[in-house]
Amino acid sequence: MFIETRGNDKTRASEVEFSYAIMNPSASFGGLYVPAFLPKIDLEFLKEATKKSYKELTLDVLKLFKIDIKESVLKEAIDLYDKFDNPNEPVPLAKIKDDLFVNELYHGPTRAFKDMALQPFGHILSHLAKEQNQDYLILAATSGDTGPATLESFSNRPNIKVACLYPNGGTSDVQRLQMVTVDGKNLKVIGIEGNFDDAQSALKSLLASQTFKDELEKSDIKLSAANSVNFGRIIFQIVYHIYAYVSLLKQNEINLGDKFYQIVPSGNFGNALGAYYAKKMGLPIEKILIASNINNILTDLITKGEYDLRDRKLLLTTSPAMDILISSNVERVLFDKFGAKRTKELMDELKQNSVYKLSKEELNELQEDFSAIWCDDSFAKETIKEFANGGYVMDPHTATCLKAYNELKEKELACVMCSTAEWTKFAPTMLNAIKEDDKRYSDKEALEEISKELKVKIPQSISSLFEKEITHKDVVKKEDIESNILGFIK
Ligand SMILES: *Cc1c(COP(=O)(O)O)cnc(C)c1O
Repeated sequence: MFIETRGNDKTRASEVEFSYAIMNPSASFGGLYVPAFLPKIDLEFLKEATKKSYKELTLDVLKLFKIDIKESVLKEAIDLYDKFDNPNEPVPLAKIKDDLFVNELYHGPTRAFKDMALQPFGHILSHLAKEQNQDYLILAATSGDTGPATLESFSNRPNIKVACLYPNGGTSDVQRLQMVTVDGKNLKVIGIEGNFDDAQSALKSLLASQTFKDELEKSDIKLSAANSVNFGRIIFQIVYHIYAYVSLLKQNEINLGDKFYQIVPSGNFGNALGAYYAKKMGLPIEKILIASNINNILTDLITKGEYDLRDRKLLLTTSPAMDILISSNVERVLFDKFGAKRTKELMDELKQNSVYKLSKEELNELQEDFSAIWCDDSFAKETIKEFANGGYVMDPHTATCLKAYNELKEKELACVMCSTAEWTKFAPTMLNAIKEDDKRYSDKEALEEISKELKVKIPQSISSLFEKEITHKDVVKKEDIESNILGFIK
């Protein structure tokens, strides 16, 4: 069963099933749904997992949660990993130093780790909608990778419409093209004049708006969301952290029971939350190291116990998927550690005063699981160049992990860093890094030049974007989002 991070307001059930939580992701007082209990995995489970494929492990982990989705549906959902580069190994683990490994999470259709969760999640959600014979509008707000992955996953699925909000000018060209060229009559893509936090807060207020819901009701449509506030995504994000450990075992890099560090380049904290749940379930993680860019609010939270938005403005960086100040999934960690009453108190403070502070004891508890550090764009670029020279190409988000590897690792243990996107999504930044210049390259020329220089392939799904017709042209002001979406519905 699933319960609420800010407690129950008595207008809805205090415990709900998984299917309800993913179809109706906003809980009492603006909170989120979380599992009432976390299943355990032990060393025997991990040992058995070395004999299994990624897909088999995923099914095993999902079954531990005893969710109300039929096994046959789960299997169909998991089979969507067949769309990845190598269906037998959708998530390869690469070794780049003696003790440093890269969990390559980007081999799916839209070349970012969002596919890991959104591919299977899309199938489950549309299955439920069809079963209920109910139409749903799925809202997504994106800083660049969630949008394409959501649209890909839901394109032409029955009973589902998608409205996707992206910050106009806040994404790479490839990311924008992945969205504005999609086909699928059930999809609507809207650029907004604002940044990602604006897109996300527009989404949250639409989800909470009774008038918006009433309007949808007239067309017999219900509302849901595909952001990582939806637990249906988080559950799939637990699995690849476990699988990384299994891969280390299979490659004889560690012995069963050894601990390891998990480094996560973080924005909305969904990926990191997956690692946290995996650790609580029993995966031998020494610590989760949170990497940020100069939007380093998570570093402040984890090192000082302060979440302070007062003197902050969102800064644009070369790792745009991490340009976030309101990191939604932190709330689930707060709930897990400090309970619903305290979580509501902290979230209310953030809303009213734009700041909350943890007590010393609370900070200590947080630091038992997490360490954090940030780096600037020039560090990321130097890292990209250094590794490219050594034969490994990583994207600007992944590169932020090296700062954590250099400075936060206290013990001689294996380190796994999550690679969250393929370099092809951020080619101009890659070329700037490699040439040590700051020219403004187009995505197309940068892709071609890097491909030639570093002898790496551009997948067909990326190179074909430049020939496609742009079918979604709307760019609107924040206050016009609602009417734009209602126009699409009608
Ligand atoms: C979404 C994203 C992130 C941030 O992940 P969260 O789960 O939101 O913390 C990091 N890197 C890339 C490339 C992403 O697309």
